[in-house]
Amino acid sequence: MAVRPTVIWPDPRLREPTVEITQIDDAVRELYRDLCDSMYAENGLGMAAPQLGEARKMFIVEPKLAGRAETDPPLCFMNPEVLETSDEVQDSEEGCLSFPDIYIKVKRPMRCKVRAMGIDGKLFEIEGEALLARCLLHENDHLTGKLLVDFVGPLKRQMIKKKLQRHKDAADVEEAEA
Ligand SMILES: [Zn+2]
Repeated sequence: MAVRPTVIWPDPRLREPTVEITQIDDAVRELYRDLCDSMYAENGLGMAAPQLGEARKMFIVEPKLAGRAETDPPLCFMNPEVLETSDEVQDSEEGCLSFPDIYIKVKRPMRCKVRAMGIDGKLFEIEGEALLARCLLHENDHLTGKLLVDFVGPLKRQMIKKKLQRHKDAADVEEAEA
């Protein structure tokens, strides 16, 4: 089990181009397990590899949200492709583990269909609606370097930067005191 620190914006690793996964080797399986452990440690609904500083095309989604049993492992999406999105949209607040305590209203399609390779190496397709669609599209955005701040104007972006800098300063003090 390895909980790894989440990469916080504006860390440039969140913008790095991601590389396709061609072979499921030990490093890929370890990345999947670390993503699971780190997501659960932060109570996230999903997490993408760049958030652990790894520029690879992988994200995970919490099993219950993905329509599985709570005790199932998180769903692994490698080299995902968004096949379809609905014209109908949803507009609600979205969070991200790389933006602690920040919530931004983001318009997203109400439904989407995604194809990806699972951790077993098999291709699968999943259709998501409402929060699942939002989560799938959010995590997929991470693999193309698109982030929550890309949905806001420059003024709001500055405010978020300041807020996260304060968050970082507080974390550094905690670390120094520990
Ligand atoms: Zn995110």
